[in-house]
Amino acid sequence: MCDLCEAKPCRNGDRESFPPYCPGRQLSREEAIGLYDGQDRDALRTAASVEAGGYCRWTRCEEIMAYATGCGYGRLGLAFCAGLSYEAAVFAGILRENGFLVSSVCCKNCSVPKQELGIPPASMVRGGAEYEASCNPIGQARLLMESGCQLGIILGLCVGHDSLFIKHFDGPVTVLAVKDRVTGNAPLAPIYTATSYYKRLSSFVKTQLSNPKNG
Ligand code: SF4
Repeated sequence: MCDLCEAKPCRNGDRESFPPYCPGRQLSREEAIGLYDGQDRDALRTAASVEAGGYCRWTRCEEIMAYATGCGYGRLGLAFCAGLSYEAAVFAGILRENGFLVSSVCCKNCSVPKQELGIPPASMVRGGAEYEASCNPIGQARLLMESGCQLGIILGLCVGHDSLFIKHFDGPVTVLAVKDRVTGNAPLAPIYTATSYYKRLSSFVKTQLSNPKNG
């Protein structure tokens, strides 16, 4: 329950002040250090150098390029949502201008109809009235791996589709941006206003999921 810990003594090495519920009490410092060896330790060091190297100066776009460079990843795989095609084209162009080899796969690759995956009309955006291709995140992972991508980059995949992509991409994955159709891809906006405009969040499961028609 780190979310309840306001002091965060783990930030400054003050183990004596760890609260009773602190998960950090379950691992010794040596055990925690032992979690990182080989490539994982290299990746951690590279991430640290990116964080410090561009601290509060580099955008996430720049940090991704710095991280890829630091890890020696020259071939990048962009898994993007069709709804963010413009952003994907701009980002892929920037990566290429910076010398990276980029493969990109749109979420609707292979154009698999939702019906053939057992998705009922009630779970279709247009109720099954017209052709709806399912997102194919496992296809994105497989196609990007087959093209030799060393780092997967997610741009706006749907909730759950992103989970499947991460599960099936056999390598490191990072995220440029997540999608939130309602907030213009700013999913933290409702969090910042959770005690005012978005009070409804606290009763979402009870009021919305028990009666989907309320949506
Ligand atoms: S790891 Fe421990 S000290 Fe750090 S935030 Fe969580 S509870 Fe607090």
